[in-house]
Parts: sequence; C-alpha cells; structure tokens
Amino acid sequence: MSEKKKGLTRREFLRKTGGAATLAGVGAGGLMLSPMMARADEAPKKWDESYDVVVIGSGFAGLAAAIEARQAGSSVMVMEKMAVPGGNSIINGGVIAAAGSPLQTRAGIKDTPDLLLEDMLKAGLYLNHLDLAGKVAEKSNEVVQWTIDFLGTQYQENLVHLGGHSVPRSYSTFNHSGSAIVLQQIAKLKAMGENVKTKRFLETFIRDKEGRIIGIRMQDGYRFPKGGGAVRFVQAKKAVILATGGFSADLPFRSIQDPKLTRDVDTTNQPGATAEGLLEALRIGATPVQISWIQLGPWASPDEKGFGIGPHFAAGAAFPYGVMVDPKTGLRFINELADRKIRADAILKTGHPCVVLADSQGVAKIAPLLPKQIERGVVKKFDTLDALAASYGIPAGSLRETVGNYNGFIKNGEDKEFGKYLQKDVKPIGQAPFYAMRVWPKVHHTMGGIQINTQAQPLDLDHRPIPGLYAAGEIAGGVHGAVRLGSCAVIDCLVFGRIAGQNAAAEKVRS
Ligand SMILES: Cc1cc2nc3c(=O)[nH]c(=O)nc-3n(C[C@H](O)[C@H](O)[C@H](O)COP(=O)(O)OP(=O)(O)OC[C@H]3O[C@@H](n4cnc5c(N)ncnc54)[C@H](O)[C@@H]3O)c2cc1C
Repeated sequence: MSEKKKGLTRREFLRKTGGAATLAGVGAGGLMLSPMMARADEAPKKWDESYDVVVIGSGFAGLAAAIEARQAGSSVMVMEKMAVPGGNSIINGGVIAAAGSPLQTRAGIKDTPDLLLEDMLKAGLYLNHLDLAGKVAEKSNEVVQWTIDFLGTQYQENLVHLGGHSVPRSYSTFNHSGSAIVLQQIAKLKAMGENVKTKRFLETFIRDKEGRIIGIRMQDGYRFPKGGGAVRFVQAKKAVILATGGFSADLPFRSIQDPKLTRDVDTTNQPGATAEGLLEALRIGATPVQISWIQLGPWASPDEKGFGIGPHFAAGAAFPYGVMVDPKTGLRFINELADRKIRADAILKTGHPCVVLADSQGVAKIAPLLPKQIERGVVKKFDTLDALAASYGIPAGSLRETVGNYNGFIKNGEDKEFGKYLQKDVKPIGQAPFYAMRVWPKVHHTMGGIQINTQAQPLDLDHRPIPGLYAAGEIAGGVHGAVRLGSCAVIDCLVFGRIAGQNAAAEKVRS
C-alpha cells in the first residue's frame, strides 16, 4: 500500500505511531524488519534540534568521541537509549591493555606494540584487519596514559596477566570496573557543558540528496524495551558518530548469527546491548564484517547472573596462579591462559561446569574482592584440597596428583603439560586456605560489526566512506578478528572513539 493511499505522508505516519521502532516491533531485543525502515529518511522541513556532532551511545567510544569533538570546539549531543548512561562500559571489568607501559618497565617486563599486535592476530585467527588492530596496538599505551593524565582515572599498581597475552600488560582500575573511566569521561563532558541525554533512541539516519548523513530521527522519552517516545528530528551539521556497542544481549539477532546462542546461554552484557544501531547502519549500506564471531567468556560463573563478581577470581587469581580442572576427572584439560575461545570451547566440550582454584597465595592480588565473592556463594573457601574436591565431587586423589604435577612444573619453570606462561611471582599451590569457583561460559563480546577504516569512517558496499558518518567501539568490526583478547576492547573503543570525535569535529559545517 502506498503512503498516499493511507492518507498520510510517511513522516506523519511515523509521528502518529511513535516511530519506526514501535512500528517495526523493536523491543525486548527483538528486531523485525519493516520495508519502511529499509532506507534512510529524507530531511524534515524543520529540525527539532541542531548540533555540529551527534553521538549515539554513551559508552567508552561515544564518550571519548564526544570529549574530542567538544574539545575541538564543536557543539555536541550524546544520546543514550537507556535510562542510565554508560552501556557495557560502565559495568566493564576495568582491565585495559597497554604495550610498553611504565608499569611494565617498573616490573622489568619487556613488551612492544608489535608483540601485542602479534597476540591479537594469533587469538583473532588472523582474521583481524591489520591496519585497525595495528592502530589499537600502537596507541594502547598512549590511550591508557590519556585516561590517567587527562581523565584522572586511577589504577592498581600491579599488572594483570590475561589469557592469550604473552606477557602481563593489563592495567586494572582501582575499583575493578570500567566505571572508573566512564564516570571520569562523563565528568569531563559535564565540565565542558555537556550532559548525556538518556532515553533517546536512534531510529534511523537522515541523508541528503548526495547521500551524506545530515541527521537522525530519534525517539525522545524512549523506554527500553517498549519505546513510546516522541519522534524528533536532530540535525548533525558536521557528522553523526555511531557508538551503539555490541549485540550480545540481542537474543534473536545473536542466535541468527550463531544458532548455538539460544536463550539457555546467559550473557554478561547489559540488557540494552542489542543490535538496532548496527541494523540501521546496514540499512544505509555499511559493510558488515565478521558478525557471526561472538565471544563467550570462559571465566563466568553459573552461580550468579550476568558478569557478576566471579570473573575477577577466575581471571585475576585462579587462571594465572592456580589451575582449572574437569570435576569428573580432577585433571587439567587446557592452558588456563589460552585465549578466550580456546578455553570456552574446552569447557563446553566437557559438557558441564568446570572448577578453577587457587590457594591463599594465589588470591593475594584480588584479596579485597574475596569476602563478597564468598558471601554471594560464587567462590568457596576450604581448609584442605580434599575438602574442596569433596564439595565439587572431584576424585580427591586425582586432584592431589594434578596439583602435585603442576607444582613440579612451577619448580622447574615450565608447564610441560599445556605450556602455560608462568608468572614471575607464581608459587606452588599448597598454602591453605584454598578457594574455588565453578565456571561455565556466557555470551560476552561481539567481534563483528560494520567495517571502518583507520579514520573511523564506516565504508559502504563499494568501499567508500559514508559521508557524514563515523563509527567506533564494539559496533565496528574487524579489529579483533575471530577472538578478542581480554582488556583489548577498552583500548579499541577509546582509540577509535577519539579518532571519530577528532575527525567529526574537523568536518565542514553544513546547514
Ligand atoms: C561485564 C563486561 C565486562 C567487560 N570487561 C572488559 C574489560 O575489563 N576490559 C575490556 O577491554 N573489555 C571488557 N568488556 C568489553 C567492553 O566493555 C565493551 O566492548 C565496551 O564497553 C563497548 O563499549 P562501546 O562504547 O562500544 O559500547 P557500550 O559501552 O555498550 O555503549 C553503547 C551504548 O549505546 C546504547 N545504544 C544502543 N543502541 C542505541 C540506539 N538505537 N539509540 C541510542 N543508544 C543506543 C546502548 O544502550 C549503550 O549504552 C567487558 C564487557 C562486559 C559486558
């Protein structure tokens, strides 16, 4: 049926119905395509609001972009569909990679951006776009120092050694949370006169006749996931920056990409980590990249919902300083510091949750977090290894033998079984009490997204930048290839967020 026949123009229709999201059934992470959404809108007769730069999404990437654009003198609007700003970034674990950092120099660890790049490529199965991954590795130390010097983020004094990295290189925020960065970003923006505008949902892009993105149609007063906000048209006189994150919480979309990721698989992500922003970009002809590479976190606990607090025990204590065993056999079955995919696949292959453990020396670096982890029943404390074995139904003799063998490897300086990197300060497991936790993978990160170049410009199907549009953060694919290394998402988001903001601000004003 044509729009004329309905007696309404398309825009009138959308205004009356509360917008395309309602019309198309966007909600609860469910996305049904309507033919009416299959292209960008035309410019309205009158804009409701006008800014130089419009940033969609208020995580690391969007906020970094907004700060840069604002610093360069542009007027900026950062919008966020949820009622609170921060996305996944504000609930993030606060671990951030830097190659060749002052903390590494102090600890006598030799590292270079090339080595970080090599690690990223190896984990990414060499599907990474070399120019993008290289940019992130090259700027990793610079961007972490930016969080310290410019944002005032505080970090712990010790580096963390995450799986897949050949050396310890990850900074950890003082509160083990990405909020230590995000709240500083929001404060910086506020000091520059900008606040994140929440409950604002991107519906679609608006293009001029030449195909340039000149604004957006959005819902103001949006209530996730139902919608219901008022439709408004916002002009972007310089550019729009898309920073809407990944789609790990989008059950229909993620299970189209990977049918194994059904409702039964939990996610670490916030509920708003859904794919609408990505779909809008695809509708205007952005090139999709590696969308079905979806990462499961091997350090997640089945004994709590979402990300929780268990991952800090597994990743910060048990994997580097302890062992992971199959409770059926009491045996190790994988390098505890292999990349996330190798570990998650190995756990899933056992068919049941596995057990990670460390002794009192192994938990030293995460000690302040232990009381809460124990109180919530995620981590358990035992006086003996036999008591630990009994609690998880592990054959006790077998567990003792596994730990004995592993301690032998530590004494000889080489993990003969799985080739795990042994930390400089690693000690044999043996000093009570012992701590343990069950692990079972959860959907954590979507490596794919839209293709960008090193200037954070999304490319269309003819490999040309889409004029007036920039993209950064988890929405952009190709940086990490098949597998993202832990602590490399924050640097990706901040590096490309900053580039997007700088480039958007440098665009000519178009009215
Ligand atoms: C629990 C957890 C822990 C993590 N820990 C680490 C870690 O320690 N180190 C590391 O490197 N990485 C970590 N990651 C990954 C990393 O946090 C994410 O990749 C990163 O936060 C993504 O940032 P972003 O800015 O791209 O998106 P986000 O921070 O997710 O922000 C995107 C925002 O856009 C909003 N949005 C989406 N669609 C629309 C729309 N249509 N209109 C308006 N707004 C919209 C979303 O609601 C969201 O708030 C973790 C991830 C999770 C979930």
